[in-house]
Amino acid sequence: MKKVLILSGTLLMVANMGFAQDKYPEPMPMKPQMSEYWTPQPPIVTPGTATTNAVMSAPSDAIVLFDGKDLSKWQNNKGGTAGWNVHDGVVTVNKKAGDIITKQSFGDFQLHLEWQIPENITGTSQARGNSGVFLQDKYEIQILDSYNNETYVNGQTGSVYKQAPPLVNPIRKPGEWNIYDIIYKAPTFTKDGKYRTNPTVTVILNGVVVQNSTIIIGTTEYIGFPKVAPHENGPIRLQSHGDPSEPISFRNIWLREL
Ligand code: MG
Repeated sequence: MKKVLILSGTLLMVANMGFAQDKYPEPMPMKPQMSEYWTPQPPIVTPGTATTNAVMSAPSDAIVLFDGKDLSKWQNNKGGTAGWNVHDGVVTVNKKAGDIITKQSFGDFQLHLEWQIPENITGTSQARGNSGVFLQDKYEIQILDSYNNETYVNGQTGSVYKQAPPLVNPIRKPGEWNIYDIIYKAPTFTKDGKYRTNPTVTVILNGVVVQNSTIIIGTTEYIGFPKVAPHENGPIRLQSHGDPSEPISFRNIWLREL
């Protein structure tokens, strides 16, 4: 132990001699690829099969965020009308209208939502059915066509984006409905703006656990590493990724405050 201490002390001295105090090198600028990793790919699990296309209605104490009729609980980024297309009991992303966010903000919750990648989806990797659900407007649980579509594992469906890959991959094929049940615990903060307790999330996709009380370490950034800044309760955000491929649809969105 003593030798290790002496050695590390020596290294520190050498390191200190190498640079004048105010001349540390500039850090390398971050690129998107620097926070991606591609292996190991999560095992594929075939989820159970629904025998009908029936939608299970919300429980009695839920806040129904979308019941197939209108987007009255939602708005766009600027507080205006949520301009996605409601039809046939579902809502389809309109990339010209941008993301949509709930008017209401939430702390701890259980969120249920169903989503469908269109059968004729095109594109590869992240440009194939990309959307996402942002918890408290800060932490993205990825939505992507991850059925025979390789991408970085911490960016596929069920990931905490660029942080935690899903435990397994139980996605259904394009044209079928996927079901997310997300249990989220909001963070608390110290006076100096660090997490006192990190946010945590459990995600169940098609009845299969893909995140198990995962500790979220900060915001889910496309470029760079997670950031921590204090925040209050926040809305749910659904992402319009703006891909050229066919847009995805949602139905049956409800939330229970915990
Ligand atoms: Mg996304």
